[in-house]
Amino acid sequence: MQDYDLKVPFGVDSAGCEVRPECAQPRRGYTCPDCRTALVLRQGTKKRTHFAHKAAQSVDSCNFLNESEEHYRAKIRLAQVLTEGAEAHLLRRCEACNEVAPQPLPRDAGVATTEFVLPSGHRADVAFMSPDDSLRAIFEVLHLHAVDDDKAKAIAATPWAELRAEDILTGNQWTLVRDHLKPWTCRRCREIARRSVHLPLLVPGRKFVECPLPEREAASVIDDCPFCPHFAETDGRSIVCLGGKLE
Ligand code: SF4
Ligand SMILES: [Zn+2]
Ligand SMILES: [Zn+2]
Repeated sequence: MQDYDLKVPFGVDSAGCEVRPECAQPRRGYTCPDCRTALVLRQGTKKRTHFAHKAAQSVDSCNFLNESEEHYRAKIRLAQVLTEGAEAHLLRRCEACNEVAPQPLPRDAGVATTEFVLPSGHRADVAFMSPDDSLRAIFEVLHLHAVDDDKAKAIAATPWAELRAEDILTGNQWTLVRDHLKPWTCRRCREIARRSVHLPLLVPGRKFVECPLPEREAASVIDDCPFCPHFAETDGRSIVCLGGKLE
């Protein structure tokens, strides 16, 4: 049996509330949440009660008929979060340390729209626009179908990423299935770059560095630095120390 729940899982009543077909009342009017055209409630003995579009032409233009409810809802939520500047993070690999860390979504002005038609004719699930209306990034929602090669090629010039619908719907930290956004540096690495000084190992012995802390002249790279809260990293020839620029 065809799964009609998957086709139009819910309609919207005159008060703007979502109503599932099994709870809908035959004489009330409902519209499709995507194309906003009228729905009819079909009740019968052979098929499960379901909504159908009243106008045949809506079937060609309605996005809701070609996607799952999860995909639809995830797309809407992602666009809302981006537009409202709500707190959410993308889990991304830092280009400096190669660790995965949360990158906050931008919270400045910008509008996200769903089903954005690109010059190539492809549709972006969510297009994030800059205030000057230029395309800032594309977000694709993965539920049943991943972005195919043809679409990946068409959107390659724009920063884009693919996220799981389930992640978007269940939390605010989202793993990227595919990451073609601009390279990113994690907070820790940015902090290290801002505050760090490279201290060369002192000869002879190459076991000490000149410590910037007032109470200590030289620090042992074996006994002191690894246990110090200002220690960042070492490449064997020098250490990166955060103590040098502390206020
Ligand atoms: S890591 Fe600590 S002990 Fe080592 S040089 Fe820097 S401040 Fe001194
Ligand atoms: Zn529709
Ligand atoms: Zn990093």
